[in-house]
Amino acid sequence: MTDKADIRAGRLTEEKIAANFADMHPALTPSEAIIDADRCYFCYDAPCTKACPTGIDVPGFIQKIRSGNIKGSAHTILSENIMGGMCARVCPTEVLCEDACVRNTHEDRPVRIGLLQRYATDPIFENNTPLFERAPTTGRMIAVVGGGPAGLSCAHRLAVLGHAVTVFEPKEKLGGLNEYGIAAYKTPDEFAARETEYILSIGGIEVRHGESLGRNLSLDELRKSYDAVFLGFGLAGVNGLSLDNDRLEGVANAVDYIATLRQAPDKASLPVGRRVVVIGGGMTAIDIAVQSKALGSEVVTMVYRRGQENMNASGYEQEFAQTRGVSLRLWAKPRKLLVKAGRVRGVEFESTQVPGETYVLEADMVFKAIGQKVLWDELADTAQILEVKQDRIAVDEERRTSLPGVWAGGDCVFGGEDLTVSAVQDGKVAALSIDRFLRK
Ligand SMILES: Cc1cc2nc3c(=O)[nH]c(=O)nc-3n(C[C@H](O)[C@H](O)[C@H](O)COP(=O)(O)OP(=O)(O)OC[C@H]3O[C@@H](n4cnc5c(N)ncnc54)[C@H](O)[C@@H]3O)c2cc1C
Ligand code: SF4
Repeated sequence: MTDKADIRAGRLTEEKIAANFADMHPALTPSEAIIDADRCYFCYDAPCTKACPTGIDVPGFIQKIRSGNIKGSAHTILSENIMGGMCARVCPTEVLCEDACVRNTHEDRPVRIGLLQRYATDPIFENNTPLFERAPTTGRMIAVVGGGPAGLSCAHRLAVLGHAVTVFEPKEKLGGLNEYGIAAYKTPDEFAARETEYILSIGGIEVRHGESLGRNLSLDELRKSYDAVFLGFGLAGVNGLSLDNDRLEGVANAVDYIATLRQAPDKASLPVGRRVVVIGGGMTAIDIAVQSKALGSEVVTMVYRRGQENMNASGYEQEFAQTRGVSLRLWAKPRKLLVKAGRVRGVEFESTQVPGETYVLEADMVFKAIGQKVLWDELADTAQILEVKQDRIAVDEERRTSLPGVWAGGDCVFGGEDLTVSAVQDGKVAALSIDRFLRK
């Protein structure tokens, strides 16, 4: 082990870093889009639509691309999923619509639904083209707690239905993990901000920044002041490693580092270790590993406690990380953090298959990516008055919580997929349920 940890900024030139963070799936050209749209069989009872958590009419929007009606195509997409632009970039289509596509066989490849969806929706966000109109004002007021995908989807649908919405958001920017979490190469060019702006342009949505449930807002007060409340506060907490010194210098939460990276005006200014160890096997682990590599780390190793088939990251994502130079080690868990001069310098791992078998990986930085959780401690009375299941909010199929007048959705509810698209669907389903409730 060398004497000093090797952590520094500017490991690569600005040009190289820009190339490493370039759009992961560049947009289709018009001729590519037509060729792909022509490959669709326009299946009756389309399996791709059934596999989409928001139920987008996939053959319907592809047909419109074919006939040159791009605006109509975008309308078909965005009326089911107002974040259809973001989802076109970040959805794991390989396990959703494109996995279900009947053209996805050994001899053929699926229709590129995600890229076609992006092709149809990009012009709408570029030109801020209005596609929706608000219904006459109902005079009803709804509080939305959290301005992430779940909250914004709920707010938009409620606004379209004529209700007045107030979004309470602690952070400076709206968008939740679309803005602070998703890997930078999936959503470059400030797309999250443009999408948020489009959503708000419907009108009827007031945003109050610096407002946090549990700190300066209470659920009780919101219930008294509003006709309904939607909770979409996501998972603000991070799981620890269960090692006594995991707050050591050089050990960081992957989500915190990613948030800094997403907001950094100049990525070359971010310090990163020469050798990086990532602990975890989900999307966050893949994202921090690939982005460390993109910033210039020389050796990046992801270590997961079980086998590849158990990882939350899809096979496609695992392969993507490997092609970007990330090494993957399986069936091991961290046993000890190695320290020198008060900083982490390596991790001792123990096999989860052969008890007692250990190995050491040297590291200048260690990232924890073993899952997020609801920060109940900071939510004051909310946990006591709501029914909770496995540490998340229990909801029914309409996303109603156990408290009358309170709905919830997105990552903070039990039984979800922890995907952007599922959060958007939750927000939409809750908004429709709230609307039915208020019109009774
Ligand atoms: C690193 C990372 C990468 C990911 N990559 C992908 C991907 O590629 N594709 C994909 O589909 N999914 C991905 N996901 C998952 C996806 O981002 C989430 O499922 C989705 O953002 C959930 O939306 P949400 O609205 O429930 O929560 P969030 O996006 O977390 O939004 C919650 C909002 O509530 C606010 N909030 C928090 N606490 C409070 C409070 N007390 N009071 C008021 N507001 C509060 C937050 O500031 C935030 O704005 C990723 C997740 C992570 C962590
Ligand atoms: S399953 Fe594939 S071929 Fe069939 S409608 Fe969907 S995209 Fe088209």
